[in-house]
Amino acid sequence: MLVMKFGGSSIANAERIRHTAKIVRDRLGRKPVVVLSAMGDTTDSLIEAAEKAISDGPVSVEFSLEKISATHLGALQELGLSTMFTPDLRELLCDLATLLSGISLIKEISPKTRDYLVSFGERLSVRLAARYFRSLGMNAQPVDAWDAGFISDSNFTSAELVPESWQYIPAALLPLLDKGTLPVVTGFIAKDANGAVTTLGRGGSDLTATMIAAACRAEEAQVWKDVDGILTADPRIVADARPVGAVTYDEAAELAFFGAQVLHPRAMHPCGKTGTPVLVKNSYNPEAPGSMIGSSLPADAHHVRAITTRGNITMVDIVSSRMLGQYGFLAEVFSCFAKYRISIDMLATSEVSVSLTVDSTQDIDAAINEIARIASVEVKTNKAIVTIVGLVSHSSAILESAFGVCVRLGIQAQMVSHGASKVNIGFIVDGPEAAPVVRGLHKKFFGGQN
Ligand code: ASP
Ligand code: MG
Repeated sequence: MLVMKFGGSSIANAERIRHTAKIVRDRLGRKPVVVLSAMGDTTDSLIEAAEKAISDGPVSVEFSLEKISATHLGALQELGLSTMFTPDLRELLCDLATLLSGISLIKEISPKTRDYLVSFGERLSVRLAARYFRSLGMNAQPVDAWDAGFISDSNFTSAELVPESWQYIPAALLPLLDKGTLPVVTGFIAKDANGAVTTLGRGGSDLTATMIAAACRAEEAQVWKDVDGILTADPRIVADARPVGAVTYDEAAELAFFGAQVLHPRAMHPCGKTGTPVLVKNSYNPEAPGSMIGSSLPADAHHVRAITTRGNITMVDIVSSRMLGQYGFLAEVFSCFAKYRISIDMLATSEVSVSLTVDSTQDIDAAINEIARIASVEVKTNKAIVTIVGLVSHSSAILESAFGVCVRLGIQAQMVSHGASKVNIGFIVDGPEAAPVVRGLHKKFFGGQN
């Protein structure tokens, strides 16, 4: 058994869906389960539709609906299918119209409603794609994730699956495969114990796929993207970035979290647990080998896997002489961040100070005011994290090279941290310095033009 996940761009229009169908058909012998995102930018369009419904009222609803149904109708038409929406698609669009009208009247949207709203994207795409797959003779069946065992907590917009999903998922999907069915499952969405629709966070379809692969003990999870796998750097920064042949689960999770766009950070956990390989492939270039994510690396692997960067970072410097030889100070600081639900990314500490970073989208003012009562606090904005993901067994050499690059560029690393997962070395620079540092590091570790 195989799990094949296709993101929005792999099913953005009729031509891409045709292409995706061919990729699936070529692998039917391996008993695939297909997982799909919403078509193209449908998720964004749905969110935009809600924002317009709130700001412009009911008049905007028809326009928004037209845009979303045109994407799906246009694809049906071009795929040579009847442009009549089948009852299931029509029903979904009716429900969506009702929902948007409701939002336009009450002029607000809760996280719960927002999850229900964006779920229409995946629910539409699997029905449309399954219908096309069937027209090609494949025994495809659209499956909503909650009918495939995806039950989550009620943490709307970023829900976690309940542990029982590990049993529910194979119990739901394996019998379908045994019957010779090709399940086409909605990525990204689930339901909580009360039956309310939840989502696993933006980009969450990757997690749907890896969860199915791990829970069903599939031979492999394939994540089909629009790039040739995991790259050594962001190609928008480093023109010479190239695909990495193999990475470990831990490395892939670090890469995803620290700026590589290629996989959802949480998606590595299930397959990491079971040792199920995850292959990242390019649907625009299926011949390319892609990147294999697994438990170990080939013996000849390069000691640096990739260099990433993430901007919009705020650095918080907390200094207190009270910390000297004391216990409990860090606990006080962290419980304050926890109280305001602020997530900390990177951390470095000395005997009398602690520096940490948070994403600048988080509102930290209240927490900072509270900490300022027990220590002196300085907040520095517009920083970036540059992360080198690689073998910590070579960390001294990696650090030497990295700092050599910084020295040559005249750039000061303002904070340095080795990730707890032991695969990353991260440092903070001023926002505008990140791109030149990444280019310099890439050239140092991988050679080439940049
Ligand atoms: N459609 C959702 C999103 O755009 C989920 C996904 O693509 O994985 O975030
Ligand atoms: Mg998407």
